[in-house]
Amino acid sequence: MKEVFERLSELQRIDTDMGVLTSRMEEIPKRIARLQEETRKTMSDLETIRQGITDHKKDYKLAEVDLKSAEEKIGSYSVQLYSAKTNEQYKAFLKEIEAQKKLKSKVEDKMIVLMEEAEQLEKQRQSAEKESSQLESETVRKVKALEAESSELAAAISERQAHRTELAKALPQKVLTLYERIRKNKAGLAVVTTKSERCNGCFSPVPAQQLLEVERQDRILTCEACGRILVPDKK
Ligand SMILES: [Zn+2]
Repeated sequence: MKEVFERLSELQRIDTDMGVLTSRMEEIPKRIARLQEETRKTMSDLETIRQGITDHKKDYKLAEVDLKSAEEKIGSYSVQLYSAKTNEQYKAFLKEIEAQKKLKSKVEDKMIVLMEEAEQLEKQRQSAEKESSQLESETVRKVKALEAESSELAAAISERQAHRTELAKALPQKVLTLYERIRKNKAGLAVVTTKSERCNGCFSPVPAQQLLEVERQDRILTCEACGRILVPDKK
């Protein structure tokens, strides 16, 4: 009977172990996805900055066209000013020249703002490019490490699985069925010690008489409170 208890404890240890390993393995794809999402976000931020630079260049070129047009108009009205026949004509040309000068000055102000913004965007682009390429290589490295960890975990799990199959075979069918049933109902924990005279699963005190029986290990005893299989605490 003692071997039965030893095997039960071993089975519990392996199952607990496998549970931990499995949940660690299941976390890996999620961790990889998070890393890749972060890289994607940084790259998309960089793309936004690059698009901003392109837009600024376009706006600047358009402003240059507007500036040239205003300058040409000022030139042409200035020539016409001298050939004005009447005072009204002269005043009209003068008014046009003033309007174009105002327009020109507005365009020039706009060009200064665009240039300043372009400079800022350029700085942002440089730091975003640096950050993005660093993050990218870091992500590649981290993903590789996680994939290696996943293979190691898979190997460790299958090794335990093989051991588990052996252990399960060596247990009496009735005991195995009981173990599996309790494990299913009690969040994976079916075998617990009576450490400090308590059930180490639900921490209820174990009566002295029962404690003695648990120590004797000649039949399977379960906790009166939670129903888990009790084994003596190995000191
Ligand atoms: Zn209990």
